[in-house]
Amino acid sequence: MKKIALLTIIGLFLSCNSSAQKTETKAKETFEITKTDAEWKAQLTDAEYNVLRKAGTERPFSSPLDKNYKEGVYHCAACNTPLFKSEHKFDSGTGWPSFDRVIEGNVAFGTDTKIGYTRDEEHCATCGGHLGHVFNDGPKETTGKRHCINGAALRFVPAED
Ligand SMILES: [Zn+2]
Repeated sequence: MKKIALLTIIGLFLSCNSSAQKTETKAKETFEITKTDAEWKAQLTDAEYNVLRKAGTERPFSSPLDKNYKEGVYHCAACNTPLFKSEHKFDSGTGWPSFDRVIEGNVAFGTDTKIGYTRDEEHCATCGGHLGHVFNDGPKETTGKRHCINGAALRFVPAED
């Protein structure tokens, strides 16, 4: 009898422990770079702030980066993390810079944060700045994904010759 009681206690302990862990992974996403709203507002232009911190969407065809096909890397306009490479950029015709893939690990996807992200949302993994959305109507010959990104969230760094 004692043995059974002990096993039951261990069982209870394990199940409590695993549910506690589950809660932990569900906890709010944290970012390496965090600033107050006022700090972001001071650092970013109005257009950048509206997209990156308010999850806004710029007007289509308004970003000069939409038609930029120079070789280089697209960095986060807020924290300078490299997010997309020019070799993965394509003309989707939507009026927003479009990529068929991200720089792995540097872009994170829709979780519940105070901005209210949906599942197809993508944001900078370093500062949490909103970038755009991902769709499944990208180039079939590569990934099939279309990462539709606001140019205001990006800073283009040309490749050095
Ligand atoms: Zn960032």
